[in-house]
Amino acid sequence: MRVLVTGGCGYIGTHTVLQLVTAGHDVVVVDDFSNASPAVIPRLEELADRPIPVHRFTLEDRARTDHLLATERVDAVIHFAGFKAVGESVAHPISYYRNNIGATLSLLEAMSAHDVHRLVFSSSATVYGADATPPFTEDLPTSATNPYGWTKVMIEQIMRDLAVSDPQWRIALLRYFNPVGAHPSGRIGEDPSGIPNNLLPFIAQVAVGRRDRLLIFGDDYDTVDGTGVRDFIHVDDLALGHVAALEALGHRDEAVNTWNLGTGQGTSVRQLLRAFEKACGRELPYAVAPRRPGDIATSYADPTRAHRDLRWEATRSIDDICASAWAWQSANPHGYQA
Ligand code: UDP
Repeated sequence: MRVLVTGGCGYIGTHTVLQLVTAGHDVVVVDDFSNASPAVIPRLEELADRPIPVHRFTLEDRARTDHLLATERVDAVIHFAGFKAVGESVAHPISYYRNNIGATLSLLEAMSAHDVHRLVFSSSATVYGADATPPFTEDLPTSATNPYGWTKVMIEQIMRDLAVSDPQWRIALLRYFNPVGAHPSGRIGEDPSGIPNNLLPFIAQVAVGRRDRLLIFGDDYDTVDGTGVRDFIHVDDLALGHVAALEALGHRDEAVNTWNLGTGQGTSVRQLLRAFEKACGRELPYAVAPRRPGDIATSYADPTRAHRDLRWEATRSIDDICASAWAWQSANPHGYQA
C-alpha cells in the first residue's frame, strides 16, 4: 500500500514510517513541524534506505490537504498529527480543539473527496477517563478529564458517525497506553521540547545530566510500591500494531474497529526508574513529590482483542525499552538539536 502518514516526523510517526517500509509499504509524510524537527528526515531516510517524501504544512489548511490527497494517490492514511500535552491543553483549550479537531475534519473531507476510505487513528487510553477499573477493555464507556483527552473522545465519535454515513469506510481507532523507548539504532527517539511531561523522557534527561533529579509524583497510591502504575509499551511494538491494523482493515467486515495497543502488564514508576538505572549503569537522583492533579493510580490494557483480531502482541520488555531509550538519549543528549 501507499500510505499517507500525518505527523510522520514525530516520535511515534517516525517509528511507524520505518515499520511500514520494512513491511513493504510505500510512505508519504505530512507534518507541520510544530512538535518535530526537520533534522529527523535524513536520519529516517538513512534508516529506511530510501527517500521519504515529506510535505510541510498543517492539515488545518483545507485547500492544501485537499490538494495533497488529489495529487498523492494513497491507499490509506495513518493519522498521528495532533497536539498532545495534557497541561498545555488545559491552559489553551481552544487551540487544542481547533488544531486536533480542525485538522481531522479537513483530512476526512479530503479523504472522502478523493475516495480514500482506509484510516488508522492515533487515539489514547486517556479516553477511559478517571473512573474505570483496569485492565481496560475497549467496550468501556469513553470520557476525559482534560481538553486533550476530549479531542480524542470527540474525534473517535466523528469517525464513527462518518462510517455510519458511508459504508466504504474502514477505520481503526488505536488506543495507546504509554509509548516509550526508541529504535534500537539510537538514531531516532522521543525529543520533547522544554521540560518533559512524561516519565521516561524525564528519567532519560536526568541520566544525561539535563535535569537534576526525577520527581516521583506521589508514593501513597494503592499500588505495589505506592507509585503510579502504567502499561509502558515499546514504540516499535506500537508501530507494528499500526501496520497490523492497517493490513487487517482490508478484510474486516466492521467499519470501525477499536483496538487497545498495550502490553497488558503494569509497571510502577519506581520499577521503571530501577530498570533505567540498570540500563544506564548508575543510580539516578530522585525525590518524592505530591501527586500530580488528574493522575490515576493504575492504568493497563486488556490487549486480548488486538491479539485475536490482529495477531499482534507487544514482545519487547521493560529492559528492552530502557536499553533503547538510553541508547537514543546517550547518543543524542540534546535530541535532534546538534
Ligand atoms: N510521573 C512522575 N514524574 C514525572 C512524570 C511522571 O512520577 O516527572 C508519573 C506520573 O505521576 C504517572 C506515571 O509517571 O504515575 C506516568 O506518567 P506519564 O506522564 O509518563 O504518563 P500518563 O500520566 O499519561 O500515564
